[in-house]
Amino acid sequence: MRKKVIAANWKMYKTSKETKEFCQKLSQLLAVPEAVESIIFAPFTALAALKEGLAGTNVAIGAQNFYPQDEGAYTGEISLNMLKEFGVSYVLIGHSERRGIFGESDELIKEKLRKALAGGFKPILCIGEAWEIREKGEALAYCLKQLESAFNDLSAAEVQKVIVAYEPIWAIGSGKSATAEDAEEMLKGIRQYLNNNFGAEIANEMPLLYGGSVKPENIAQFMQKENIDGALIGGASLKAESFSQMIRFREMQK
Ligand code: PEP
Repeated sequence: MRKKVIAANWKMYKTSKETKEFCQKLSQLLAVPEAVESIIFAPFTALAALKEGLAGTNVAIGAQNFYPQDEGAYTGEISLNMLKEFGVSYVLIGHSERRGIFGESDELIKEKLRKALAGGFKPILCIGEAWEIREKGEALAYCLKQLESAFNDLSAAEVQKVIVAYEPIWAIGSGKSATAEDAEEMLKGIRQYLNNNFGAEIANEMPLLYGGSVKPENIAQFMQKENIDGALIGGASLKAESFSQMIRFREMQK
């Protein structure tokens, strides 16, 4: 059975002090069920506090960004080696805010994916369409193109280490999530693509996530779907109470 994944993307929120407070609250609320992999993608400046605050828990630490070089004259950038010091095991790649606001190209995303895999990090690769593309009925084709570009020339063994998150751009931070049915249809199509290109084992084993205005009130609807193995959550992950509720999504079904 595929592991469930509940991941928090804190974006540009939380100082070290706020991170410490979050972890204190979370530790009072949370025993992460064995079958759930939970991850917090924090800003760089909060990673030290997060490492300290999550010590002794089974919540993993993720970074929202990195530059795909070991070191060098890249002012303002952070390498994977630097992230290792903070216990980072996951990295987010291809988030629509990085693609849209910071102009990250498919080429850079591809390079980052390779670098993360070579460095032994677990990448969550985000893909997703804009509203105009969905309206034209081209959402799946668009997302598969993004996948194809990122996976191009990767071996099946490498693809096996990736988690894909489908995040429609119009649903991120908008309060307007996709319906569970639409998200399921997209992830089913993505699994089919994996099956056709990398084989049944990889297709059956890769956790596929949905992201876009997930919150405690709607998470169960998504998690009940056959092809949705988890969620990438922005706004609703910022409070320890709601993050811990979503990790225990099974209880939210009752
Ligand atoms: C995200 O940042 O990836 C995200 C899905 O944000 P939100 O949950 O706020 O829509």
